[in-house]
Amino acid sequence: MPAELPRLIYASRWAPGIERDLPQTVKSIIAASIQNNRRSDISGMLLAHEGWFIQALEGGRGNIAASVERIFRDPRHTEPHVLSAGPAPSRAFRDWNMTAAAAGPEARPFLAELGMIEDFDPRQFDGASAFRLMLALAEVERARERAALGLTAA
Ligand code: FAD
Repeated sequence: MPAELPRLIYASRWAPGIERDLPQTVKSIIAASIQNNRRSDISGMLLAHEGWFIQALEGGRGNIAASVERIFRDPRHTEPHVLSAGPAPSRAFRDWNMTAAAAGPEARPFLAELGMIEDFDPRQFDGASAFRLMLALAEVERARERAALGLTAA
């Protein structure tokens, strides 16, 4: 049986002012992440939503620790708050070294269930809820990618 890898999910606040050019900021974070994470064999997903980032990272223990230490010092966000950290039996975000998720209409039922439509504050998530949200968004992202390749309807 393969050794279990760690998965870490955290939330952090956007640094003041980044909402002025959020798409460009996310684009440049994702570009650097893909390059670095490919080298470190890290997979994951990044959500930017209503003033917050939520990021899932999975990979080798040492690589995750080194990456998180660098990421948490990045001035583009503040107040990193770990929502869940622990062994994962398999990679849930294996498709991407990093990808940007969007919490569109498909995330609303889940956010409503958690009481987070009006007041999105991911620090209130427990680890399981944060993981479920990211898993749901990963499914949406996979469907979007399949549709973009013309494999299925969106
Ligand atoms: P560069 O991207 O060239 O960055 C060099 C330095 O400049 C770094 O200290 C960086 O923090 C800083 N910097 C870069 N652009 C800006 C800017 N526009 N404003 C202010 N400072 C800036 N990196 C990963 O490798 N993997 C990840 O999964 C990952 N996830 C991230 C998630 C979030 C929410 C954020 C904010 C950053 C994330 N990063 C990630 C980026 C990470 O913090 C480092 O910027 C990056 O790893 C350094 O990449 P690089 O060596 O190519 O340098």
